[in-house]
Amino acid sequence: MIQFEQVNKFFGEFQVLKNINLTIRSGEVVVIIGPSGSGKSTLLRCINRLEAVSEGKLSVNDTDLTDPRANINRLRQDIGMVFQHFNLYPHKTALENISLAPRQVRNIPLAEATEQAQQYLTKVGIPEKASAYPAQLSGGQQQRVAIARGLAMKPKIMLFDEPTSALDPEMIGEVLDVMRDLAQEGMTMVVVTHEMGFAREVADRVIFMDEGMILEENSPAEFFQNPKEERTRRFLSRVL
Ligand code: ADP
Ligand code: MG
Repeated sequence: MIQFEQVNKFFGEFQVLKNINLTIRSGEVVVIIGPSGSGKSTLLRCINRLEAVSEGKLSVNDTDLTDPRANINRLRQDIGMVFQHFNLYPHKTALENISLAPRQVRNIPLAEATEQAQQYLTKVGIPEKASAYPAQLSGGQQQRVAIARGLAMKPKIMLFDEPTSALDPEMIGEVLDVMRDLAQEGMTMVVVTHEMGFAREVADRVIFMDEGMILEENSPAEFFQNPKEERTRRFLSRVL
């Protein structure tokens, strides 16, 4: 589904991604952890071409992103992304936030898009918040609307960039529960998070990044019990 082959990325002189080789299969849940500034967000943003890679090859869902003729709009329809800050439209209701892209991008008629949006709100556990505006929702509820909005485009891949980092602790669990359900339904997911419990329980694979490199990659059981690299051990000793 996603394949990085010897990918390098530079911001000017600064090399932010170094020789990234990574293959993610359909239905896999991959959690990326690592210190701040290690390139996690950049790696994620390359997958939907919010950032272009500088060297190497990246293909996503059979599209070669390094081909200048690649259909990026088509690609993005298949990829949902959820950010730390939910980026909901403040002047639209929860339901309108969710139905907007299906209406505008997929030309789904209003009634149908609204009905589907309601189903996604139910899926993320807040069917009663349809007509609430973002400011009337808690952080956890807003993030669940943002996930519903991503799902409404029926993506093949969901990317999550620290989806719970801006939330009060008591709201983290409700968002992780929605993500866990999605994983169980077989969604292909790439998740940057500091939630080690989630990584341990839900990930098929954990990737540790440091200074632009993938330093270590393993099953969660191996990764947490038997980290190979000294830097991984140091990082884990700080976050666990
Ligand atoms: P992480 O998500 O692991 O914290 P990022 O991918 O956001 O790391 O950033 C990795 C490094 O690249 C950081 O040093 C950051 O300052 C730098 N960086 C990120 N985006 C840009 C940009 N648009 N221009 C220049 N440098 C950037
Ligand atoms: Mg980041």
